[in-house]
Amino acid sequence: MTTERTATGPQDATSAEAAPAGRPAPRLLIIGAGFAGVWAAIAAAESGAADGAVQIDLVNPTDRFVVRPRLYEADPGDKTVPLREVLEPRGVGLITARATDIDVDGRTVLVVDGHGDERRLPYDRLILAAGSRLVRPPIDDTHLDDIDTLDGAAALDGRLAQLGPDGTIAVVGAGFTGIELATELPSRVPSARITLIDRAEELGAALGPGPRPEIQAALDELGVEVRTGVGVTSYDGTTLELSDGTSLGADVVVWTAGMSASPLTAMISTDVDPLGRLAVDQYLRVDGAPSVFAAGDTAAPLDESGHTVAQSAQHAIPQGTCAGRNAVADLLGGNLSELATLPYGTCLDLGAAGAVYTEGWDRRVVLVGAEAKALKRDINTVWLYPPLGVANA
Ligand SMILES: Cc1cc2nc3c(=O)[nH]c(=O)nc-3n(C[C@H](O)[C@H](O)[C@H](O)COP(=O)(O)OP(=O)(O)OC[C@H]3O[C@@H](n4cnc5c(N)ncnc54)[C@H](O)[C@@H]3O)c2cc1C
Repeated sequence: MTTERTATGPQDATSAEAAPAGRPAPRLLIIGAGFAGVWAAIAAAESGAADGAVQIDLVNPTDRFVVRPRLYEADPGDKTVPLREVLEPRGVGLITARATDIDVDGRTVLVVDGHGDERRLPYDRLILAAGSRLVRPPIDDTHLDDIDTLDGAAALDGRLAQLGPDGTIAVVGAGFTGIELATELPSRVPSARITLIDRAEELGAALGPGPRPEIQAALDELGVEVRTGVGVTSYDGTTLELSDGTSLGADVVVWTAGMSASPLTAMISTDVDPLGRLAVDQYLRVDGAPSVFAAGDTAAPLDESGHTVAQSAQHAIPQGTCAGRNAVADLLGGNLSELATLPYGTCLDLGAAGAVYTEGWDRRVVLVGAEAKALKRDINTVWLYPPLGVANA
């Protein structure tokens, strides 16, 4: 456990803003140490809470930040950062536990640690940044792999290492994650036969027609077979049954289709979008829950162009920054600022075939091949990493 801060006694949440001398500082509690939560903690610490005016605690099941967009790559265990190095210099406490219940009226969060011990943490402002999770398929998923979490990606990495020379791998879901994984696998397991499956007729349906020719060319170049217009009806560990009545031998099947916001959102409001994301205003305050902010994959604000943001790291980072800043301003009587996002861009890795970078919600192709690949490398190795060791001024 890192910088474990003992929960103080119950604070009088209703009078937190006043916090007269001798009273404990009001507490900002953040659930989830992904992109939104970590950037919220940094922004909160750097926007006036540094002198102890606000106690900032972050609850996360582990003491590592997972660079989730990199989980399609080999050696996923390397794609993490010790949270201690980000939080300690900024005076942010880390509580290694999982939040299991939120009492919005009582302003408390129930957490359970790795030993099963429960405690209820009071808060004055809450930021929900617990991210999203893969939607499990409506079939027996016992033998399915995923790259949704570090544990899932590590298990897959181990399984790929055990594959024989004629190994067969199916990736289900030809969206962003499935395409990145399917095009990376030929480098990770050069002898394997790889098939990408999606029930939509079009490859990368959600990505639109713009980058499709580049994606198709990359899959062809890398020898990845594509089956579109078919769903999966069962998988028993060796054979994948498809909705068109055909079957496919597969030693490994990786499910990548569908994401849904953390179920903790339902404890705050029933006003959620089809992805389970909370309705928030442009300050990221949850509609109907004035002491709660939401950011990242749990929230559905509008971006600078009026589109609802994507469940993406590039949108989670500015949301986290906005929520962290505003939660502190709200506690200390400052002005809240609206969410500010950069113009939308998408950089899709295509493995040894390069990458494709698009701009705008209509995904106009701007860079391809080696140029796009260099950008993707910068994103994956620099931009997605939180700044370390910056002490409060
Ligand atoms: C394989 C893959 C590739 C992707 N590629 C890209 C990409 O190229 N570009 C891009 O922009 N986005 C990409 N994404 C999406 C991106 O990873 C997410 O949108 C982003 O991680 C969202 O950030 P977040 O902080 O909301 O959630 P997360 O990063 O998922 O962080 C949530 C945190 O909350 C913690 N948590 C969950 N439940 C609880 C609980 N009950 N109590 C306490 N803590 C909890 C989790 O352990 C985690 O640390 C990809 C996702 C995947 C899976």
